[in-house]
Amino acid sequence: MRLYLIPVAEIAATGGPVPVYLIRTDEGANVLVDTGYARDRAGLPGPVKAEPGADVVSRLAGLGVRPDDVHYVVCSHFDPDHAGNHDAFPSAEFVVQRRHDELARSRAVPRLEMCRASWDHPGLKYSLVDGDTELVPGVELVESSGHVEGHQSVLVRLPETGPVLLAVDAVPEQAAADPATRRIYPFDLDEQATRASTARLARLARDEKALVVYGHDARQWRDLRTWPGYLS
Ligand SMILES: [Zn+2]
Repeated sequence: MRLYLIPVAEIAATGGPVPVYLIRTDEGANVLVDTGYARDRAGLPGPVKAEPGADVVSRLAGLGVRPDDVHYVVCSHFDPDHAGNHDAFPSAEFVVQRRHDELARSRAVPRLEMCRASWDHPGLKYSLVDGDTELVPGVELVESSGHVEGHQSVLVRLPETGPVLLAVDAVPEQAAADPATRRIYPFDLDEQATRASTARLARLARDEKALVVYGHDARQWRDLRTWPGYLS
């Protein structure tokens, strides 16, 4: 099994990455986590820098993976830096927490509307899950609400590296890894749930001895083996 950490854009203010992740299993399944920032879609705010050729489809092409080769897209959540290109993967099965899907479709959270054209697309197949779920052997979805309801993180069990916990926006930076003292960011909708999820992921990482990959951490990203390299 291989895990690719793929930068598709950069947050202008912090230099932090906007990543997607590709898991290639030994059985030949391609699992993409998130679809990244929608640089071509009108109406998005401009704090993200994306070079031409850094979009998810181009990055995957660099690995010889076409959109039709992606079997699953795990949706951490539908914020515009994570769900901007769902419609580029019409043959994939999209896996999202039911609570998040319901929240997004209720139109109660304005920022989830920003790339609705990408994720609320009639041709896309969604599978709704409730809480922690094994997607395929070695890939587990971990419910981590708080940043937004029904956010999910992903635990990947790699043969050499060991377990890797993709925290995504449940813990966007190492500086937010301590549940008691962590900063609550403007986009974290529920402080109590955010702290509870941070605590839960910290426990999971400790119990599993997992490497935690934070969602948008500039400093950590520099030390990680990123695209086109991979963790195995
Ligand atoms: Zn994010």
